Amino acid sequence: MAGLNAIEIRSVSKVFGFGEYAFSAVDDASVSIRQNEFFTLLGPSGCGKTTLLRLIAGFEYPTSGEIMLNGDNIAAMPPFKRPINTVFQSYALFPHMTVAENIGFGLTMLGRPKQEIRDRVAAMLKLVRMEALANRRTSQISGGQQQRVALARALAPQPKVLLLDEPLSALDYKLRKDMQIELKRLQAETGITFIFVTHDQEEALTMSDRIAVMSAGKILQVGNPREIYDAPTDRFVADFIGETNFLKGRIHAVNSGIAEVETAAAGRISATMPSNFSDDGEVTLVLRPEHAALCGPADHERCQMTGTLETIVYFGTDTHYHVRLADNETLFTLREQNKPLQAARYAEGDRVGVAIEPNAARVLRS
Ligand code: ATP
Repeated sequence: MAGLNAIEIRSVSKVFGFGEYAFSAVDDASVSIRQNEFFTLLGPSGCGKTTLLRLIAGFEYPTSGEIMLNGDNIAAMPPFKRPINTVFQSYALFPHMTVAENIGFGLTMLGRPKQEIRDRVAAMLKLVRMEALANRRTSQISGGQQQRVALARALAPQPKVLLLDEPLSALDYKLRKDMQIELKRLQAETGITFIFVTHDQEEALTMSDRIAVMSAGKILQVGNPREIYDAPTDRFVADFIGETNFLKGRIHAVNSGIAEVETAAAGRISATMPSNFSDDGEVTLVLRPEHAALCGPADHERCQMTGTLETIVYFGTDTHYHVRLADNETLFTLREQNKPLQAARYAEGDRVGVAIEPNAARVLRS
């Protein structure tokens, strides 16, 4: 099977309802998910990520398009025959059964031999570090422990693909952080392809090998976390992931992939262009707050923009500055990491300059 994609989504659409009530929950989505990959579908509520997951699981059928598993079309395969398992947000454990019985449930249903079930359950209890609670009922364990049992139960039949639908959303912040590391470990140790659904961009960036960003049923961009964060090809992606400044402008000249963009807010700024970008007049510049720094307004060597410092917000690890740019409209956010016992260098109301790091500004279509 080496070389084949674990899952291939080929021009898949899913329309709910008919006629004037027809609604495209997934709209011509295409993506290939590799073997052993931790792949995340990321997008806001209602963008279609759960529907895409349900199509892969077989709980829904595509209106058009094909879904391939290891190179085979699985349209005719019912959900229970697919070598795919799902971990739901609600865990859906059986409260009257013990941890071990829950983990072995799927294998029992498949009619596997008793000894095999005992061995698999023992291996899964070890994998999720729940040996000590094997005989406890799942109604008597914590939320984090329930999550581990749900994972063990889904992994026990050794699926080729594990689907995870916002599995960490019910956990508190600290436990969620721990489970993120735990999930990465489980995926690496089992070598199973994980397809993870979340609306939490930080979760997606920290856990995934690759991410597909979705909006309104469409997949807008697929890439590894660094590509998605540093080189968004779409305005929605730039806005949804992390904090971003947007400046409207017009391309003045292009030289070796670097555009000189004339902006109303801040004059001329150099910016990198995505490959295949064609200049069609109006563009938007995107710039991350941590890729800019304050400088003296007369420091023309460093400062590409000038403005008035409106607010300073101290966050402990860093400080956020909001600068009203020359057009008196655009509020530009920048972020500087704090140094130990550093005295404040600027005050609200100061005239300031803004220095942009090389290659930090990026051109997108307006
Ligand atoms: P969330 O994060 O809130 O779960 P999501 O991105 O997973 O959102 P989906 O559950 O896939 O979104 O839903 C996508 C869109 O399709 C939504 O507008 C939803 O209302 C609609 N939808 C989903 N299932 C059905 C259905 N069975 N009938 C009609 N519309 C549906």
